[in-house]
Amino acid sequence: MTPVFRFAPSPNGELHVGHARSALECYLQSQAASGRFLLRIEDIDTGRCREPFVVGIFEDLAWLGLTWEQPVLRQSQHFPFYQAMAAKLEDQGLLYPCFATRTEIEAAANPAKVDPDGAPLYPGLHKHLSKIEIEDRKAAKQPFAMRLNMERALEAARLKSKSAPLTWCEYNTEQIAQPEVWGDAVIIRKDTPASYHLAVVADDARQGITHVTRGYDLFHATALHRLLQVLLGLPGPHYAHHRLVTDGNGRKLSKSAADTSLRALRDAGATVNDIWRMAGFPVE
Ligand code: GLU
Repeated sequence: MTPVFRFAPSPNGELHVGHARSALECYLQSQAASGRFLLRIEDIDTGRCREPFVVGIFEDLAWLGLTWEQPVLRQSQHFPFYQAMAAKLEDQGLLYPCFATRTEIEAAANPAKVDPDGAPLYPGLHKHLSKIEIEDRKAAKQPFAMRLNMERALEAARLKSKSAPLTWCEYNTEQIAQPEVWGDAVIIRKDTPASYHLAVVADDARQGITHVTRGYDLFHATALHRLLQVLLGLPGPHYAHHRLVTDGNGRKLSKSAADTSLRALRDAGATVNDIWRMAGFPVE
């Protein structure tokens, strides 16, 4: 079976050296494995994603010397697909609507209980709304997210996997997944009819991705991805979470730090070899 790799950036800013590291790592691994290399545009956040950033992604990656298969999948064109996946979870009784606002959630949350990204864990505000209250709020057109009932989800996964522990393969070692650290994660967002976690799992499966190579900042998210894969009956790819490129102060690069954007570096005279070197790949 030909291994299939993908680089899946979100066009909500310019690519920086950290993205170059992910893209190159993934590309080199795909070549070493005689595999396929796909590019996927993760643009479900239609409020923040911009077309010029999509064009910039194509330009930057081509400049770095990468080639990828066509057509490029754009997540924003596939919302019905993600909703159908969410419906599979809903049919299993694993999702519930949450109408709570960010302010309400922050006010009720325990600041000592945070998820791996440092966000407060959802305090369960709307976990047990009555059917009538849900209908009333829907009738009043209150916007809502759909959240995963984590306890039920873990139980359903336990039954599906016949009590085998939830694990993933990380650089050929077995990693125990602890999705409960995310609490009742959002599966369908309020502002867009999908979520990163749902869309990434759904697309990795339908594109036949066998190897997910991405930054260590997404390491913990993999536990939730594995849970969703088991609940949806999808295969689990191999994962490789590489170390992140940091700035001079040891901080992860961010899209707001325009000075490390590939475009800015290119405009300032950086060569492709300079970027490869900055991304951690030795070149002559
Ligand atoms: N779209 C995500 C990002 O740009 C990466 C998704 C992934 O590689 O799983 O951070």
